[in-house]
Amino acid sequence: MAKKTDGIGAVAVIGGGITGVQSALDLADMGFKVFLLEKSPTIGGVMAQLDKTFPTNDCSMCILSPKLVDCARHPNIELLTMTEVSNIEGEPGHFTVSAVRKPRYIDIEKCTSCGDCASVCPIKLPNEFEFGLSMRKAAYRPFPQAIPNAYLIDKVGDGKHRCVECGKCEKECKANAINHKEKPENCTISVGAVILAAGSTPFDPVIKPEFGYKKYPNVLTSIEFERVLSASGPFEGKIIRPSDKKPPKKIAWIHCVGSRDKQVGNEYCSAMCCMYTAKEAIIAKEHDTNIEPTVFYIDIRSFGKDFDKYIDRAKKEQGLRYVRSRISEITEDLKTRDLIITYEDDKGHLKQERFNLVVLSVGLCVPQVRRNELAEKLGFNVNDFGFIETNSVDPVLVKPGIYAAGSFVEPQAIPESVMQASAAAANVAALLKDARGTLVKEKKYPTERNVALERPRIGVFICHCGINIGGVLNIDEIVKYTKNLDDVVYADANLYTCSEDTQKKIVDVIKKQNLNRLVVAACTPRTHEPLFKNSLREAGLNPHLLEMTNIREQCSWVHSDKPALATEKAKKLIQMTVAKTRFLQPICESQIPVTEKALVIGGGIAGMTSALSLADQGYEIALVEKEPILGGYLHNIAFTVDGIDVKKLLKETVEKVEKNKLIKVFTKSVVHSLHGYVGNFTSEITTPKGIEEFTHGVILVAIGAEDYKPTTFHYCKEPKVLTQLELENRLSHLRPGQIHNGEVFVMVQCVESRDSARPYCSRICCMQAIKNALKIKELNPYAEVFILYRDLMTYGFREMYYTRAREKGVMFLQYDVDKKPTVHTGNRLIVKIHEPMLSQDLELPADYVILSTGLDPHDSTKPISKMLKIPMNSDGFFLEAHVKLRPVDFSTRGVFFAGNCHMPKFINESIYQAQAAAARASTILSQRSLSAEPNIAFVNEDFCSGCGTCISVCPYQAIDLIKLEDGKSRAKVNEALCMGCGSCAATCPSGAMQQKGFKDEQILPMIEETT
Ligand SMILES: Cc1cc2nc3c(=O)[nH]c(=O)nc-3n(C[C@H](O)[C@H](O)[C@H](O)COP(=O)(O)OP(=O)(O)OC[C@H]3O[C@@H](n4cnc5c(N)ncnc54)[C@H](O)[C@@H]3O)c2cc1C
Repeated sequence: MAKKTDGIGAVAVIGGGITGVQSALDLADMGFKVFLLEKSPTIGGVMAQLDKTFPTNDCSMCILSPKLVDCARHPNIELLTMTEVSNIEGEPGHFTVSAVRKPRYIDIEKCTSCGDCASVCPIKLPNEFEFGLSMRKAAYRPFPQAIPNAYLIDKVGDGKHRCVECGKCEKECKANAINHKEKPENCTISVGAVILAAGSTPFDPVIKPEFGYKKYPNVLTSIEFERVLSASGPFEGKIIRPSDKKPPKKIAWIHCVGSRDKQVGNEYCSAMCCMYTAKEAIIAKEHDTNIEPTVFYIDIRSFGKDFDKYIDRAKKEQGLRYVRSRISEITEDLKTRDLIITYEDDKGHLKQERFNLVVLSVGLCVPQVRRNELAEKLGFNVNDFGFIETNSVDPVLVKPGIYAAGSFVEPQAIPESVMQASAAAANVAALLKDARGTLVKEKKYPTERNVALERPRIGVFICHCGINIGGVLNIDEIVKYTKNLDDVVYADANLYTCSEDTQKKIVDVIKKQNLNRLVVAACTPRTHEPLFKNSLREAGLNPHLLEMTNIREQCSWVHSDKPALATEKAKKLIQMTVAKTRFLQPICESQIPVTEKALVIGGGIAGMTSALSLADQGYEIALVEKEPILGGYLHNIAFTVDGIDVKKLLKETVEKVEKNKLIKVFTKSVVHSLHGYVGNFTSEITTPKGIEEFTHGVILVAIGAEDYKPTTFHYCKEPKVLTQLELENRLSHLRPGQIHNGEVFVMVQCVESRDSARPYCSRICCMQAIKNALKIKELNPYAEVFILYRDLMTYGFREMYYTRAREKGVMFLQYDVDKKPTVHTGNRLIVKIHEPMLSQDLELPADYVILSTGLDPHDSTKPISKMLKIPMNSDGFFLEAHVKLRPVDFSTRGVFFAGNCHMPKFINESIYQAQAAAARASTILSQRSLSAEPNIAFVNEDFCSGCGTCISVCPYQAIDLIKLEDGKSRAKVNEALCMGCGSCAATCPSGAMQQKGFKDEQILPMIEETT
C-alpha cells in the first residue's frame, strides 16, 4: 500500500473539476501542500466538455486550460488521477484518506504523449468524452488538452470491447512507457483537512421514455449538444444531426428534463439549465444562421448577473422562440427521422410541431450509487436528493475539518462553484494556519540567459485552437509565410498551444533552437499570457521576451465568412508582432514587500465574515462601517425561509468580530482617501475621533445594496400597499389567529424590476414572497395568498419551498411583461391581471397588496469605485475581473469584493462569497513579497521638459515633478505605484515618457510593417 504522509500542512481535495482545481490552486498559493484526487484519467470535470460558457460566451476550454496547466505545474500540488476515495477517517488536523488508484497501463512519467500507441492500437471503442458520438482507440488520451498529458489503456469493458493485449503498442512505444501488468493500488494519504468537490452527474433521460432518448438518434442531451457545438468535438463544431449528418433547421430545446420532476425524485431546479439552453441556442445560431431555435420552458430562471440581458439578446438578436409549456411526448417520423413534439400551448391548446433535432436540457443529479457511498460508506449526511448536506450559515462546512463545494453541494453554475471552492480553501487555511508554509516547495527556474548581445532568434508558435482558428485560417500558408520573416528561425503550428504538451514543446524548442524571443499567435493574452511567460522562464529566458498576437478573436472569429482575407490579416498581424519582438528587451521585475493586513469596507454579514475569516488565518484587519452599528441589511430581516435564526446569527457574528483582537472596528466611519498599490496600501479613515491612518496589503469591499422603494401601484398613498420587507416585519410580530380567515394578500413580483430602468433580476424577491406567503399560511391557513409573477426564480433546492407553498394553497398566477397587473383603489383594493393560460382578465379583491421590489446598488458604490479605481457594470454593481473564473477579484490587483455590492444575493451566498474573497486576499497576504507590475513607465530625462502633462493624466498618482540642481523640473515615476496603463507615454509631448514593453522603438517598427 502506497503511503503519503505529509500530514497537517497538507490537504486532500477530492474531485478535479473546476471546483477542485480552484480549491487546490488557492490552497497551494497560500502555502499548503495539496493532493488533488480525481477518479477519471484527467482533471477538468464537466467544464472540460462544455463548448462556451454563458453569459460571456467565453470558450470553456480556453479559460479552463491555463488553470489545469497551472495545477500540473504547481510545486505544491500533487495530481492523483484515476484515484477514487474509499474512506475518510480522523479529526481536524489529522485525517487519513484511503483511495484506490486504478491502473493506467501507461507510465505518466515516461509517456511523451506522442500518440504512437493509439495509432497502432486495433481496438475502436465509443469515445465517452464525446458521449459515443465519435470513436477512440483502446489506447487513448481523453482530449487534446488533458492533464496529465499522457495516454492510457482501456481494459474496462469485456471481450473485444477493451484492450486485448495484442502487444502492438508495447512494440511501438519508444519511451518504454507501457505496462500491461499494472495492478490497482491502495493508497493512504495523511492530511490536515479534506475538501469534497466530486461534482454531480448530468441526468440520464433514458428513464423518461416519453422523450425517446437513445431510441431516436436525433434526440440528444444538452451536454451531448455541447460536444456537437465544440470546435474540438465529434463534428468539429459543424451542427449536424446524428442520424444523417445533415444540418438541422428546426431545433427544439426542452427545459427541466430530470429537474423539477417529482416522478424521477429530482424535485429541485438545476439552476443553470435555463441559461445554458439560451447559450446553446445562441451559439448554434451563430454557427448556422439558418437554424430556427425553439425553447420549451416552464419559467426562465435568469436570476444571475446580466442573465436577463442575455436572454433578451437571445430573443431579440438571435430570434430564440420561447414557448411556455410542458412537453407530453416526442415521437419520430420514421422516414425523415424528424421528431414530433406534442405540447400544450400558452392558451391550453394541444399542439404538434415537427423538429429536425431535439435537445433535452438535463439537470445535474446524484446517482443512487453515489448516495449510498456518501451516506453509508463515508457516513456523511445527505439531503433527500443525495447531495451532501451543509447549512446556510456555514455553507461549505460538512463537519469539522471537512468542507464541500461546487455541484457536489447543489447544482450550480461555474462562478458559484468557484466561489465555494475558494470559500472552502479559506476555511482550511484558518483551520491549518499554524502549518501554513511547512510543506511548500519553491518553484526553481533555471538562471536567465543573458540575450542582450545576441542577434534576435525568434520562434513563432501558431495555434489551430482546434478548428476555432484552424477551421477558418489557412494555417499551413501562415506557417510558410512566417518562416520567411527576418529573424524567424522557427515557426510551426500546434493543435492547442495552451495544452501541457505544447508547453513542454515550447521549452524544448527554445533550448534546441537557441531561441531568444518568442511569438505566440493564438488567442487573447488576457487569459493565456502568464502561461506562456512561465514556459519562457522554464526554458531560462526572461518572460518578457514574449509577444502574443490574437489571430482568433481578431481574425478567425470576426472574419469567419472571409477565410482568405482573414488569413492575410493573420499573416500581417504576425509580421507586425515579429517586428516588435525583434526589439524586446528583458524586463527585471522588482519585488514589493507585503503588509500582512487587510482593510474591509462594509460591516454587513459579508464584510464581517471576510474579516473573521482573515483574522482566523492570522491577519490583522480594519473593518470600516459607516453606520453606528455592524450588521447592515441583516437588521431588516426578521426571518428566513430556511430557518436561519437571523437575530442569533447577527448577534453572534457581531460579538465574534468585536471580541477578535486582530479586528479593529471603526463604526460611523468612512474611508476618506486611499493610496498605494497591492501589498502596500495606506488608507485614511474618517472616524468620530478624527482621521486614522491604516496601512494594509489588500482591500475587501462589501458595501451591500439598498432596498428599492417603488413609485407605482399606489405605494405610499394606500396604507395597505406594502413592500415585502414591510410585510415581513409586520408578520414577525403577529401570532397565529391574528390574520383573519379569508383575508387576501396579493403579491406582485418584479415591481419596477427587470424593466428598462432596472434591467436585472434581484434574485431574492421570489423567495421573499414565498417566505412571507408561507408565514401567512402558518399564521392562518384560511388566509388567501396570490403571487402574481413573471418567472419564479426559485432556483436550486429553493424549488422545494415553491412546492410547499403550492401545497399550502398559495395561488400562483403568471403574467406577461407587456400586460402587467394594475392596482385599483376604492372601497377595497382590486388587482387586475391578464391570465395568459385562461386568456382572461381577472379581478382580485385584496386586503393587502404586497410589492416585490428589487435592490439598487448602494449610494457609496460610485464614490468607492472612483476612489479605488474599480469598475461597475451598467446596472451600477461592481464588476468582477472575470465573470466565470475570478468572481470575487477586481482586475485591480489586491482588491476583492463580496455580498450584495456584486449583485443581490441570499445570506448563505454572501457568506461563502465573503469567505472566498478572504481566500483570494490570503493568496496575497501569505506571500513575503510580490512581483511589481513589469510594464511600467520610465522617463528619459534628457528629453523631459518638466511640463507635467504626464502628472495630470496619471490615474494612479504615480508621477512626481522633482526639482533638479539647475532649477529645472523633471518627471519621476514611482515604480511601485505605476500600473503600466500607458496614459503618460501616450500624452507626453516630447516623447520623454516611455513604457517598458511598449517603447517607441518597439511600437514604431510594428506600424511600419502595416505600410
Ligand atoms: C450541459 C451543461 C452545460 C453547462 N453550461 C454551463 C455554462 O455555460 N456556464 C456555467 O457557469 N455553468 C455551466 N454548467 C454547469 C457547470 O458545468 C458546473 O457548474 C461545473 O462544471 C461544476 O464543477 P464541479 O467541479 O463542481 O463538478 P464536476 O465538473 O462534475 O467535477 C467533479 C469531478 O470530481 C470527480 N469525482 C467524482 N467522484 C470522485 C471520487 N470519489 N474521487 C475522486 N474524484 C471524483 C469527477 O470525475 C469530476 O472530474 C453546465 C452544465 C451542464 C450539464
